[in-house]
Formats: sequence, C-alpha cells, structure tokens
Amino acid sequence: MALTGIQILKMLPKKNCGECGIPTCLAFAMKVAAGQTEIGECPYVSDEVKEQIGEASAPPIRTVKIGGGDHVYTIGGETCLFRHEKRFENPTGIAVLVGTDQDGAAVDGRLERFKSLRYERVGVMLQADMVAVKDATGDAAAFNALVKKVLETCEDAKLILISDNPETLAAAAKECGDRKPLLFGATGDNAEAFAKIGQDSGCPVGVKGGNLDDTVEISEKLQEA
Ligand code: SF4
Repeated sequence: MALTGIQILKMLPKKNCGECGIPTCLAFAMKVAAGQTEIGECPYVSDEVKEQIGEASAPPIRTVKIGGGDHVYTIGGETCLFRHEKRFENPTGIAVLVGTDQDGAAVDGRLERFKSLRYERVGVMLQADMVAVKDATGDAAAFNALVKKVLETCEDAKLILISDNPETLAAAAKECGDRKPLLFGATGDNAEAFAKIGQDSGCPVGVKGGNLDDTVEISEKLQEA
C-alpha cells in the first residue's frame, strides 16, 4: 500500500537542507507520496530506506524517459488513471510521424510543421514533442538516412523508432547515440532481440501485442530479460 507523506517523513533524515531541490523534508515527503518526485533525490537516505519507500511509493506504471541530455520526454509515473481525478505529472506526448514510404517533400513538410506548430489551449501551449520515424518499406539504409535527417533537422526532438526488424533498429539506435530513442515495437517473435537492443543501447522499448493478453506476455518476457 502507498505510504503517506507523514510516514515517509519519519524515514527521512530531517536536515531541511534543501539539497533535494525542495526547501523542507516535509514538503519533499509530500511530493514523494504524491509521485511528483523520487526518493533518490535526497542524497542522505540510506539504500535500505530508499528501497522500502521506493517500492511502497512506486506508481502502477513506472516512469520512462525518452531522449537524453537536455531533451528528455518523461512518460508514465502516474499514480492515477483518469485525468479528472488528479493532474497528470507527465502528460501524454504528441508526436509527428514520418516514414520511409513518404517522399522528401512530404517528410520536409512534416518536420517543418514539427518545429513551427504551436497551439494555445486554455492557457496551455501544445506542441509536438517527438518525431516517430517508421521503417515502412523494410529498407534499412533508407530508414537510417531518415533517422539521420530527423536528428540533424530537429535538434530538440525526442525520437521514436518504429521497425519490425531488430537489426535495423539496432543500427538506427546507434546512430542516435545519447539521444536514446524509444524503440517500437517488440512482438512475441522478436522480444528476445528487442530486449538485447534495449540492454545494449540503454533505450526504452515499446511492446506491440495483438491483444491485451498478448501484450502482457511480451512485456513479461522483456522484464525477465
Ligand atoms: S535533501 Fe533530504 S534532508 Fe535535505 S531537505 Fe531534502 S529530504 Fe530533507
């Protein structure tokens, strides 16, 4: 069961030093309980307490980071399922899709709109955060060239790389270096290969199941790996 802020506070060193970026231990404990920050942000908590609080306060969906350096998109990590119950800490991202089945002009147009489109909606600025690059033709060289183009044209874009071929994805993930794209999508047939690419590259991996049971099964395979 999730711990309350007061229960978490009892396990903190209570230095009120602010090194976690929050002025007091009480405020920090409340944020950990609400899933708005992680216990590891306090440098004075022992590994044992970290594990205890980390497990008890872990959200049902773990936090996943796509990207690297100054350009990271965070998803998951929510403690609630519905937006009306509570504010989402990591709102759903918006991505623009480009694929190897599109001609150069179409790709350029989409990348240009990725950079320029901004909508203000009830005080919130909406804009695309990610570019999804799809291997739609099975041509590894064309896919790699498209990934390279996106990396060069959209310097702050977080990437999603989509291909059924693990080898194609592994090469493209290497091209991305520390920009750590999301690799999509592992199926029952290639889960082992996807797990290996995820481990070697440090990139998050997405799962593509035919139905919910299938998706759970593939996810379990990846988790075991
Ligand atoms: S870094 Fe730790 S001890 Fe310091 S204020 Fe934050 S929670 Fe308290």
